[in-house]
Amino acid sequence: MLRPTSIFLSSSPRILIIGSGAIGLSSALHLLQSPTPPSITLVERDINLKLNSAVLSAGGVRSQFSLEENVRCSLYGLEVFKEGGLNKLIRNINPSADLIDLQFINGGYLFLSSTPTGSSSLKKNLQLQQTLGAKGTELLNPSGIKNTFPYLHTRSLLSASYSKNDGWFDPYSFLTGVRTAIKKLVKFGTCINDVETNKSTGNISRVKIDGKWSEFDYVINATGANANSIIDLIPGLKRLPIEARKRTIFHFKCPEIEAEQGHIPPLTVDPSGVWYRGTGELGEVSGGDFICGCTPVEDGEEDASDGTVDITPSYDLWDSIIWPKLYSLSSAFGSAKVLNQWAGWYEYNVIDQNGIVGFHPGCGNLVVANGFSGHGLQMSPAVGRAVAELVEGGRFETICLKRFGVERFEKGEEIFEEGIV
Ligand SMILES: Cc1cc2nc3c(=O)[nH]c(=O)nc-3n(C[C@H](O)[C@H](O)[C@H](O)COP(=O)(O)OP(=O)(O)OC[C@H]3O[C@@H](n4cnc5c(N)ncnc54)[C@H](O)[C@@H]3O)c2cc1C
Repeated sequence: MLRPTSIFLSSSPRILIIGSGAIGLSSALHLLQSPTPPSITLVERDINLKLNSAVLSAGGVRSQFSLEENVRCSLYGLEVFKEGGLNKLIRNINPSADLIDLQFINGGYLFLSSTPTGSSSLKKNLQLQQTLGAKGTELLNPSGIKNTFPYLHTRSLLSASYSKNDGWFDPYSFLTGVRTAIKKLVKFGTCINDVETNKSTGNISRVKIDGKWSEFDYVINATGANANSIIDLIPGLKRLPIEARKRTIFHFKCPEIEAEQGHIPPLTVDPSGVWYRGTGELGEVSGGDFICGCTPVEDGEEDASDGTVDITPSYDLWDSIIWPKLYSLSSAFGSAKVLNQWAGWYEYNVIDQNGIVGFHPGCGNLVVANGFSGHGLQMSPAVGRAVAELVEGGRFETICLKRFGVERFEKGEEIFEEGIV
């Protein structure tokens, strides 16, 4: 279901969205679907999208998750990013807007398993995904893996889960296309200077944007890895367990794999956390271009939220972790040559690595939509829709994200996702 149908409980609320990345723009797009659209101000400090996580991401959308909420959200992500939903949402509010070509590549996702526990997780998760409507996923045994992906060594693999319906797209086209389409429907700002709260309710009453105070009924914190920069402006408000964690992507060339496979390899995730995928058009020989990355060792990770850790890629990960793992998966990766690399921030939820969505219990008109720890781009359509539902009607209508609320940390009700990459 693309469109929330409710009409705002309060008439024409004034809404401030801080952060115009994937979640901020999706929130604006879904709020504008209402027959009585609110007044929206969108504030973005990095208008050229130089450090935006979505733009620096791998652009992947997959139905392979273990939590019902994440599967449901990513299925909506596929509807929006793959099946034309984004252009429908845009045309609903701006009939003359240019259609966005997201360049979706239906390359699939392949999760590998080398242990009995990992294999039974893949099986259990597949059952859940299918119950919730995911299509095109199958479990492969080692000979099925070898038949489908002849270049892979299967000696240490027990099974794999291959979702053919999944893929990746161009996040830059998404962000810039939505921003252009809603340009005349929202106000823009660049800097939050200060926040004032009402002494008796604790709610946000006014926000100083680019030197000028304005009143708002609701404030949406969609600042990704920088979420606590907004929380810290509100005296006494408890910080979110979110840190900015650096993730490096390497672009490498390895024509041998593609020659052996005959098509672009899916986004393949090894149990160690190393992942890779082909790039280029499906069905065409792309010259063997790949991107890849890995989960660094948690102990060595630094929080960059205060801006003290720079965004220089972690060059050493290629030699120390990624290339040895790729070579163990296929000797054809032996000839891989790195062409380039870049890094971006995961909005890393240090407690349970899941999204944090809902009204902040310490501030009744602040909605937080953060913390997806590396899967927030594909979740952004569902999160934006959930934010619109909360602001319009005070509750989740299409996908219940109550378990993702801030309250879970106080109550000790953390929820863990097995499919974090
Ligand atoms: C290397 C890498 C690979 C990834 N791969 C994937 C993937 O394949 N699939 C997937 O789903 N996700 C992926 N992700 C994660 C994904 O990019 C994020 O989960 C997603 O972008 C989160 O959306 P967001 O809107 O919260 O944050 P962002 O897209 O980063 O947007 C937040 C925006 O808020 C702005 N902002 C911050 N602070 C302020 C402030 N104080 N005032 C004004 N503006 C502010 C920022 O400038 C930014 O533009 C990846 C991330 C990285 C780093």
